[in-house]
Amino acid sequence: MSDEKIGVYICHCGHNIAGTVNVEEVAEWASKLPNVVVSKDYKFMCSSLGQELVEADIREKGLTRVVVAACSPHMHEPTFRGACSRAGLNPYLFEMANIREHASWVHQDDKEAATEKAKSIVSGAVSRAEKLQPLEPFRAPINPVTLVVGGGIAGINAALEIANAGQKVILVEREPSIGGHMAQFDKTFPTLDCAACILTPKMFEVGMHKNVELLTYSEVEKVDGYVGNFTVRIRKKARKINTELCTGCGDCWERCPAKVVDHVYEAGLGYRTAVYRPFPQAVPKYPVIDTESCIYFKNGRCKACQKFCPTGAINFEEEDEVVIVTVGNIVLATGYDLFDATQLPQYGYGRLANVFTSMEFERMTNSSGSTSGKVVLRDGLTMPHSVAILHCIGSRDKNTNEYCSATCCMAALKFAHLVKEKTHAEVYNFYIDMRTAFKDYEKFYNRLMEEGTHFIRGRAAEVTDAARKPGEEGKLIVQAEDTLIGKQRRIPVDMVILMVGQEPRHDAHIVSHMFGIGCSDAGFFTERHPKLDPVATMNEGIFIAGTCQGPKDIPASVAQGEAAAARVLSLIGRGEVEVEPVRARIDEDRCSGCRICNNLCPYGAIDFLSDLGVSRVNPALCKGCGTCVAACPSQVIEGQHFTFDSIMSQIDGLLWDVRPNGNEKVTFMQPEPV
Ligand SMILES: Cc1cc2nc3c(=O)[nH]c(=O)nc-3n(C[C@H](O)[C@H](O)[C@H](O)COP(=O)(O)OP(=O)(O)OC[C@H]3O[C@@H](n4cnc5c(N)ncnc54)[C@H](O)[C@@H]3O)c2cc1C
Ligand code: SF4
Ligand code: SF4
Repeated sequence: MSDEKIGVYICHCGHNIAGTVNVEEVAEWASKLPNVVVSKDYKFMCSSLGQELVEADIREKGLTRVVVAACSPHMHEPTFRGACSRAGLNPYLFEMANIREHASWVHQDDKEAATEKAKSIVSGAVSRAEKLQPLEPFRAPINPVTLVVGGGIAGINAALEIANAGQKVILVEREPSIGGHMAQFDKTFPTLDCAACILTPKMFEVGMHKNVELLTYSEVEKVDGYVGNFTVRIRKKARKINTELCTGCGDCWERCPAKVVDHVYEAGLGYRTAVYRPFPQAVPKYPVIDTESCIYFKNGRCKACQKFCPTGAINFEEEDEVVIVTVGNIVLATGYDLFDATQLPQYGYGRLANVFTSMEFERMTNSSGSTSGKVVLRDGLTMPHSVAILHCIGSRDKNTNEYCSATCCMAALKFAHLVKEKTHAEVYNFYIDMRTAFKDYEKFYNRLMEEGTHFIRGRAAEVTDAARKPGEEGKLIVQAEDTLIGKQRRIPVDMVILMVGQEPRHDAHIVSHMFGIGCSDAGFFTERHPKLDPVATMNEGIFIAGTCQGPKDIPASVAQGEAAAARVLSLIGRGEVEVEPVRARIDEDRCSGCRICNNLCPYGAIDFLSDLGVSRVNPALCKGCGTCVAACPSQVIEGQHFTFDSIMSQIDGLLWDVRPNGNEKVTFMQPEPV
């Protein structure tokens, strides 16, 4: 037995732990474990009184190790490390035992088993604590430049907030212009104010800001580094336009004979040319040449744009450019995609001409859209006399997306209003529940009811053109159970609008992998804590904002963009960061130079020193994941804070009740190197 003095603290977590685990019994039991000099239970260990309890014992009883058995280290390891530090104990001599998630929450129906399991977890933690070594975090300066990825309303606001505070921002946007989905809208709920009127000034401001470098038509390809010190490779796709010469006059796209359906900005409901500017208020104002649609790039003829460009700005030879930037923090604001309505063939999208998606309707009702704002059927002329709006298409459905897309109910109300205003048609909203939760949203719902919109509670089952009776001929018939009156209904209409849900971007997994952050089951980026840390991620220095984190409306996206900016500015203000010392270390004297670790490290943190014939870990890049430790055939890589001894000791502690020789500790031998 060593001469460490270990303090053990068992948290009730209110009823969360104490409701299932007999915390008094665990504390009493733990007091008899080797080296434990104090063992207490307390209602809320994370409270200031709980922390002061630990601090007082460290000072008065001279504790050399502390174990708190409570919730996840994810939640409160920093809290108790702080308490240890304040009392003068190295914070890496603290160990957390998670008896909430691992005992009480998963064994709610068996108090006895939960209590026994809690004992094992505590025993493992005490045993491991004995082997912990003090570590010192290293400090690194913070590069004050920030990268914002995604120029929708969330990314624009994050960039402006940081830039207005006097710090440099690089804003990378994949499309030829910033603006995101909001740039596609005409009106925004619940105030019905003009989307362009509130968005365009922000786009212009960010585009002109002296502290913002705008890289549109660009994408991030690689990210290395850690908080305060990231190196990012960005591909600037060739616009084929010399932006120094281009004035944005539009002569090129007016002369371009190659017309293609615009699936991005016009949502498939309008056309653009091969050389194009996505929309009139685009920032920057310069067009791009889409080489896949351009006649010249396809068969070597045309060049009409070049001929008519008054400034000689067309440059067919321009190539992609790769730029490497160094930044201290990153905000991801890559937004959402829309659910593909063809996945639900029962609603007829793509088969029945007058079934539209919500984004198609947004474009149709927009004065800059293909019908100049007129609400008409697919023929481009006929106004509908009746319109059905179907909620929750691809949302709240276990066959598609189980979550609520949060904005569709309100957008459906907006559409009902616009249809009535522009056509005086009868409008039928088929809803499961109306979700109008935020400021003034319920008022807008009431307004729509007063305007005479029909609300039918029931998920629409089908949209068909198969008429059964005279009034249905030539119409689209929406079939649904009206759950308020308990009857099946068939409503014939001229137009159907499908309120398709918000989905993670199709490449969200690739992006999350590149930036080293997580995705939820649904595929949205995962925040550090859903309630208390909604814009930070598990990768320090990388923040998320807007709909890439989950479905939300414009005000919430703006608020998150600004929250992410505030977090970035507070880091910049600190000037330097403390980088966790939990890193791998290679014993170079014993390294065989096989380089297996070099290739396996997911963070590229291991260099091979060819002059010495050995590998070396760059602690700045290492994230302490342990891959190399497990892979090294010579067993010369050690994970600091997770040493062989500490892990084996923890296993031994966990198995206290099945030790072959009663209470005698088991010694695990490290296997022989290969
Ligand atoms: C039909 C419909 C109507 C709506 N109407 C309203 C309304 O009236 N009022 C309201 O409050 N909300 C409304 N919303 C919600 C609104 O669209 C969102 O809240 C808002 O657009 C979210 O902004 P964002 O910046 O998070 O994402 P986005 O608008 O999606 O912007 C993300 C940006 O990131 C870019 N990007 C993506 N991936 C990358 C990458 N890898 N690299 C670089 N750039 C990338 C994209 O090109 C895009 O420009 C509506 C939603 C729908 C579906
Ligand atoms: S014609 Fe020339 S100057 Fe005018 S928008 Fe096109 S590229 Fe720019
Ligand atoms: S060369 Fe290409 S972009 Fe230029 S006008 Fe012809 S088709 Fe359009």
